[in-house]
Amino acid sequence: MERRTFLTGLMALGVALQTRDFARGAIFRTENAANKIGAEKYPFRLPSLPFAYGALEPHIDAQTMEIHHSKHHDAYVKKLNEALLKYPDWQNKTLLELLRAIKQAPKDLQTALRNHGGGHFNHSFFWEQLTASPTYTGDSTAYSTQFQKKFGNHQAFTEQFSKAALSVFGSGWAWLVKLPDGALEIITTANQDNPLMDVVEKNGTPLLALDVWEHAYYLKYQNVRADYIKAFWNVLSWETVSKRYD
Ligand code: MN
Repeated sequence: MERRTFLTGLMALGVALQTRDFARGAIFRTENAANKIGAEKYPFRLPSLPFAYGALEPHIDAQTMEIHHSKHHDAYVKKLNEALLKYPDWQNKTLLELLRAIKQAPKDLQTALRNHGGGHFNHSFFWEQLTASPTYTGDSTAYSTQFQKKFGNHQAFTEQFSKAALSVFGSGWAWLVKLPDGALEIITTANQDNPLMDVVEKNGTPLLALDVWEHAYYLKYQNVRADYIKAFWNVLSWETVSKRYD
């Protein structure tokens, strides 16, 4: 083969691989989206995953990731947009503003904001903290001081958090939140509720979220939620968690 033909072939292969990865949702974000989720406005869009569907194997399988992202998350986004279609006054609010003002919304918008607004925020937030190669680079001082004070060490924390996640009855989430005074606390919420919502009893800034709906794990772990929770710690970016504190 001539060198030129060979190089053209290589380039074509590169394009083909990129196209395939693009189709699989493997679009790498160049900036940290930590503060961007809450700032998003109508019309909402399904965010790309920062990794390929199969990147978290064997801990979270590719099929679960693909269905979770392209079907479940996508449905929350579409239904949130559909609900806001009739309410131009509410279209100008950021996602965070919507979640904090559910009680003030028209009655038939409230449930949609809670379920689909929550579903959109929670899943965007969940994807962002997952990684195929967790590296631990050390915590910010404020975060690590609060962490030590509340939990002592990471093992004690993961045990407490896992227990909370396991205790969620039916569908819901487990969270590590930063309370208004800076202290840390583990809380759980039902359905797609989250600690930012005015309809939720305990408010705080979320730092870490774990989806314990069956759709998040049933294909691989069936009814054994405990195994899914155990696997989750292998794909969690602690760096993202501590950055969120600041
Ligand atoms: Mn989910």
